[in-house]
This record gives sequence, C-alpha cells and structure tokens, in this order.
Amino acid sequence: MDKIYPHLIDGQWQAGPQAVANVSPSDTDDVLGEYSHAEPSQIDAAVAAARRAWPAWRRSTPQQRFDLLDAVGTEILARKDELGRLLSREEGKTLPEGIGEVARAAMIFKYFAGEALRCGGQTLPSVRPGVGVEIDREPIGVVGLISPWNFPMAIPAWKIAPALAYGNCVVFKPAELVPGCAWALAEILQRKGVPAGVFNLVMGAGPVVGQALLDSEQLDAISFTGSVATGRRVIEACARHGTKVQAEMGGKNPLVVLDDAELETAVNAAVQGAYFSTGQRCTASSRLIVCDAIHDRFVEALRDRLAALRVDHALEPGTDIGPVVDQRQLDSNLRHIAQARAEGAELCFGGDVQERRTRGFYQIPALFTRTTPQMRLNRVEVFGPVASVIRARDYDEALALCNDTEFGLAAGICTRSLKHAEHFRRNAEAGMVMVNLPTAGVDYHVPFGGRKASSHGPREQGAYAREFYTTVKTTYVAGA
Ligand code: NAD
Repeated sequence: MDKIYPHLIDGQWQAGPQAVANVSPSDTDDVLGEYSHAEPSQIDAAVAAARRAWPAWRRSTPQQRFDLLDAVGTEILARKDELGRLLSREEGKTLPEGIGEVARAAMIFKYFAGEALRCGGQTLPSVRPGVGVEIDREPIGVVGLISPWNFPMAIPAWKIAPALAYGNCVVFKPAELVPGCAWALAEILQRKGVPAGVFNLVMGAGPVVGQALLDSEQLDAISFTGSVATGRRVIEACARHGTKVQAEMGGKNPLVVLDDAELETAVNAAVQGAYFSTGQRCTASSRLIVCDAIHDRFVEALRDRLAALRVDHALEPGTDIGPVVDQRQLDSNLRHIAQARAEGAELCFGGDVQERRTRGFYQIPALFTRTTPQMRLNRVEVFGPVASVIRARDYDEALALCNDTEFGLAAGICTRSLKHAEHFRRNAEAGMVMVNLPTAGVDYHVPFGGRKASSHGPREQGAYAREFYTTVKTTYVAGA
C-alpha cells in the first residue's frame, strides 16, 4: 500500500480516520498516495493549537520570521523541478507550467520574508498640542486558509507566507484534489523549524473540513479562494461570527480585440489566456470580444493555432495543454458546450473528449463563435478550455460588453491605440487590466484581486496583503 500522508497538527504528524487516494488526472492508474481526511475534532485540535501558539509567535522577531520564510523559499526554489513534477502529476498542468508555478511560490515566500522586516507603522503629530499619534500594525491572530485546486502551490503560498510574515498562526485546508502539493509545503515548513501550532495542515473534503473551519468561533479571520458558490457561504459564515474575511472567487474575463490590434499579439493573448493551464484559471479569458473589421482574420488565426496545440499527458514533453482536473469538471465542461450549441452558438473548433496513451481527462480546447452576450456560456464561469467570441461594432460597444457581467477579476485589451488603451484602463470594471497581454499571468509582488462578484475584502499579494493579515492600532501619547 502507498504511504498514507498525515495532517500536521500542533507540530505532530497525525493520521485521520480515513485516507483517500490521490489520482493523477493525466493517468487514473497513477496514484500519488493516500492522503488523510480529517474529522471535525482534528480541526478543533488544530485551531486550539494555533491559539496556544499565537502569544509567542506574535512576539517573534521579524528576523525569526524572515529566516523561516526565506529558508522555505530557498528550498522550494532548489527543488522546483521535483516539486513542479509533483504539481503537474497531481493537478494536470504541463510540466513547464508546474515548474513555473513552484518557482513563483518560492518567490512569494521570499517576498514575504522581506515583508516581515518592512512592515512598519507611522508617526504623526496630533491636532492637539503636546500629543503624539502612533499607528501600528499588529497581527490579527489565528487565520483559517481555504484554497482551490487550480494553483496548488502558488495560492497556498500567497496565503501562508503573508499570514506567518505578519505574525499570525495558520490552519490551512487545501482543496481535496491536490493534497500532495499542500503536504509538500507543510513538510518543508515543519523541517525549516516552524514552531509547533504556528502552522497546521488539515486535509479533507470541503463540506467536512472546510465547513468545520466556518463553524469554528475560534478563528480571527478566514482567507478563501474558490468558487462563487462556496465563497458566499464563507462570507455568510464569517458575517455570523464577526470573523474578518477575504474571498477571491470566479471570473468571466473579457479580452477585447480592437480593429487596430496586432493580430499576432491578440491571438497569442487569446491562446495563452483562454486555454493554457487547461483554461482552469480564475483569470482565464473566456469572453473574446472582437471588433468587426478584425473578427474573421482573428477567428481564423486562432483556430489555426488551436489546431496546432497538443493536448496530452501533463508530464509528456511537447504537451501544450494537460488534462482537465477530474471527471466531474470534464462532465461540467461538456454540459456547458452542449448547452451553448443548443442556444445557437457555433462550435468553430474542438470541444470533444479524446483518448490518449494513458487514461486521463483529455478535452480538445473549444472555441465558440456567433455567440450573444445573453447566452449562458457568456454569463457563467466554465473553468475549462472553452472560450467564446462575441462580435462588437466598435470600441464603445466592446467596452460595454466587457463590463456586462457580474464578475470583475481581470480584463484585457489588444490595441495599438494609446487613447483606447488608456480609456479602457480607467473604465474596465475589473481589479486587474492587461494591455496587449493575456488576462492570465500576474506578478507576485503586486496586489491581486477583483471587483463585483469576483472578490470580497482586501486584496491579496504584495504589500497590500497587510490590509487583511494585520489590524491597525492608533495610539495617542500625551507629553510628546
Ligand atoms: P470550490 O469553491 O469548490 O472549493 C474551494 C475550496 O473550498 C476547497 O478547498 C474546497 O474543499 C472548499 N470548500 C468546499 N465546500 C466548502 C464548505 N462548505 N465550507 C468550506 N470550504 C468548502 O472551488 P474549486 O473548484 O476548488 O476552485 C475553482 C474556483 O476557484 C473557480 O471558480 C475559480 O475561478 C476560483 N479561483 C479564484 C481565484 C481568485 O484568486 N479569484 C484563483 C483561483 C481559483
């Protein structure tokens, strides 16, 4: 029997009452191991351990926190090929994408190592004579972290690293499809000397382990990334308990292609943004809003590019697009494709399931044309390699279509017009705007997040992460 991977609770490795096989989406005969699923009492134990550890950890020196996070980042970077392989095997993105994500996770740990040293306060003169005002940032306490499966290293890193850097203790619940990456991170943190209880890993199903975190009244904050449906549950539960909350959720991101766009740039942005990482990115360009004069040339060039892409095993050299993450997601993609066709959208390329040498969840990327903004395909997140073209008369109509969505994560434009690029930057209702770039693919040192139904609460990443992981104290001192 394969190794059973345990939880990390109060500095001890602890098995759960049951373990579940972790299966590669590229090859369902390839089992990465058995991973424990926690029972509610183990989540309570993890939260209690974090509470006990917090008084000491909040008083740890910035140097201590820097050393820990920097050492973790250094090890992840040194092992990026091996960990990237684990990630690709487990989640299904291609090996170069997997290695790239691991390297990014390493840089996030290193960035927040520096943040432990940089995070200072402010001193201001009072409006009253003889009084000084000091503004400090303090950690918030014990933070529950709930992450999705699509970035199994980077998203845990961009939650765990700032939480620890600013002096908080962590109970981390990864998505059930990707415990392997989470466990590898926990093992590194443990070996690099994170004190007992400061970081806890509890694995298992959302409705059990995630729900137990939502039901706990002992958490000071919850940071969640995942679907809108789960995110809203998280926000409601936090509102009931008065818990600070941050939720990053889905997207229906537009890429606008104006008539004056450079065709090659626009097609590259669409291929990368809509289909790479199997389209399983919250920032994926799922709505391609294309102006009349370039429409036919763009669609033809995009179709040619899609026809040349290789969909195959994530670890196979030369694979451009790996498998869909599991059968459930594949079935959901196929339902969306069938419904779009029933609504009158034209399936211009792909969409079918393919067999490969190994048994995996292989889907040819799908491109729809002749779609209208009201079609369900253009309203809801598919979260797979499926994109639609919406035709626009001109820039003004394209901008209106871009904003005609409940979501607001990323928005892109391809144009050679400075005037339109600048107008778009100011008027796109999105947290992130990309000009002549894919909507997916962001830096690790700047804020990440959206608007409208895509996001709730302060931004993640960069120095802006402080807003969530710290609380501000204002002190008035007489006799200053
Ligand atoms: P999901 O909502 O199904 O699950 C996310 C996490 O919530 C998982 O760990 C899951 O186990 C947990 N969960 C499920 N039910 C729960 C419950 N009742 N209580 C507490 N936790 C529960 O999402 P997913 O399928 O893992 O990820 C895909 C989604 O994530 C997409 O919608 C995508 O757009 C979104 N996403 C958003 C961002 C962003 O930063 N905006 C980044 C990546 C992914």
